[in-house]
Amino acid sequence: MGETKTKVIKEVILPKRKLPELFEKLLPDYDIYGPVQKAKEDAYEIAPGVDRKTLDLKKKLRGNDFQKVESPDELNLEYTTTVTSLKKFFLPPVEDLVKFELQNVKLKDVKEAEEQIRPFILFGVHPCDMQGILRLDYSFIKGNPESNYLSKREKSVIVGVNCVPDEYCFCEAVNAQVYDEGYDLFFTNIGQSFYVTVYTEKGREIIDLVETEEVTDTDVKEKQKAIERSRSIEGSEQFKPDYHNMPLLCKAGDSLPFWDEIGNRCFSCGTCNLVCPTCYCFDVEDVMNINLKEGARKRFWDGCQLEGFAAVAGGENFRASRTNRNKHRFYRKFLYLMEEYQKPFCVGCGRCGRQCVADINIIETSNLLYDNVEKI
Ligand code: SF4
Ligand code: SF4
Repeated sequence: MGETKTKVIKEVILPKRKLPELFEKLLPDYDIYGPVQKAKEDAYEIAPGVDRKTLDLKKKLRGNDFQKVESPDELNLEYTTTVTSLKKFFLPPVEDLVKFELQNVKLKDVKEAEEQIRPFILFGVHPCDMQGILRLDYSFIKGNPESNYLSKREKSVIVGVNCVPDEYCFCEAVNAQVYDEGYDLFFTNIGQSFYVTVYTEKGREIIDLVETEEVTDTDVKEKQKAIERSRSIEGSEQFKPDYHNMPLLCKAGDSLPFWDEIGNRCFSCGTCNLVCPTCYCFDVEDVMNINLKEGARKRFWDGCQLEGFAAVAGGENFRASRTNRNKHRFYRKFLYLMEEYQKPFCVGCGRCGRQCVADINIIETSNLLYDNVEKI
């Protein structure tokens, strides 16, 4: 598991032509997952009246997802974002927590669900997604560590890569464009080579598998230029509030009417929950096999935007209105968890805005809050 620390162990240059050799040496010991362009641009038809510019952008983004790969040729490392986030590697959409057996309708045996996971590398992780994983670490490891999450996290190695942001990305505005926290290795793309920063001993073991080159002054300059190009300037400049003030703004603006306008637009589809790297709510259900002798306690992703999320026995629903559900999700990012963790639980990846069928964009919501509180 990538340690959260800032110390650089070493920096080297890896020519891109060396990547196949590196993968070849890693594959006997690791599964490797990275961004793969799954759908080509012509995979979608354009409906009459749809803004072609918007659709083209979304089609391009929809094409990438983290998939298992055997060769670096399969990777699209110059990607903006993936449809789903990396939480699926640590918190799968459906997961067995325990298995049980019944005899004569009574519980006979209960055992932990044993999952054999090979060590795996997430190759090509962007800063916002690294920060998303660190937020999940906080929620699942702090206090009473959750063994299902921890067992997967301990098997993971994280290799970062610099981003190609679009106007939905605003990681810089929420202080999530961080290059020195959580990674084992960080690869900055400087043309024919990667500038590799090594943060952990595991990272050092990996990069030492192949011959690398010494860093020159020109490489340092190229790395700085690449990092500058990766800044999420367009989206971050749109985000008006100072993120430090978000908890105060949420409290001050709790009863403002703009929340109803957002709620009225929302379809309660739950997409924003599914794609968000820091939404981790789940439900648990006991599912019997068809023989009625064995079963499993399963964990499923849930979403606070779904109507039944806060429904309880007796017909009560604590967040029956879409306004309250939207507000709740926003407060989970910028109030409740932010007050506890001292950092926003939104890492500015922009996925919820890109994927929302009602065009509800968290930058827009934050700005509406800011503008309307200013008017009070
Ligand atoms: S994706 Fe958009 S429409 Fe769907 S629940 Fe989220 S805010 Fe509402
Ligand atoms: S709230 Fe939206 S922009 Fe923020 S981390 Fe989640 S999906 Fe990304």
